Amino acid sequence: MLPKIKILDEKSKILHTISKEVKFPLTEDDKKTIQDALKYLEMSQIDEYIDKYHLRSGMGLAFIQLGIPKRIFVIVNEINDGEFEKYVIINPKMISHSEEKIYVEEGEGCLSVNRPVNGIVPRYARCKIEAYDENGELFTYRVREDLSIAFQHEMDHLDGILFVDKIDPKNPYKNKNQMRAI
Ligand code: ZN
Repeated sequence: MLPKIKILDEKSKILHTISKEVKFPLTEDDKKTIQDALKYLEMSQIDEYIDKYHLRSGMGLAFIQLGIPKRIFVIVNEINDGEFEKYVIINPKMISHSEEKIYVEEGEGCLSVNRPVNGIVPRYARCKIEAYDENGELFTYRVREDLSIAFQHEMDHLDGILFVDKIDPKNPYKNKNQMRAI
């Protein structure tokens, strides 16, 4: 069964809220929302469910996209066919990042942006992030390539920023040749 979650569309001003730091232990509601969001993202990457529920595939979801202004996001990354790696990221801080920048060649996507968007968003190719998991344990993540982009995209959501906000409509492919496409 598809978890019952409602993802806000970019028209909702709530998405521009700066989310608040989370205190531990998490509430039961927050734990449930984390599990629902993970399940939803996983199902959105499986053909059978995409067809059945008419889903758009997504790799990440931030709590603010569900209307909850807390610094929590989840990422589900398919590493092999049908094999998923799951991340629960709370109160993240970027510790360091590469000089090198990359961008998604076909454009970034977001479950809150339901229209085609022209343009690219510069992202660090690699970054190191410190964050808590759902049990309040601190972890360090070293991420690269598409996972690095997903982390940066979700961290922006916590600060009320959508990827479309980072694209200059007058020059949507600005500095393209100074970055690497992935
Ligand atoms: Zn997004």
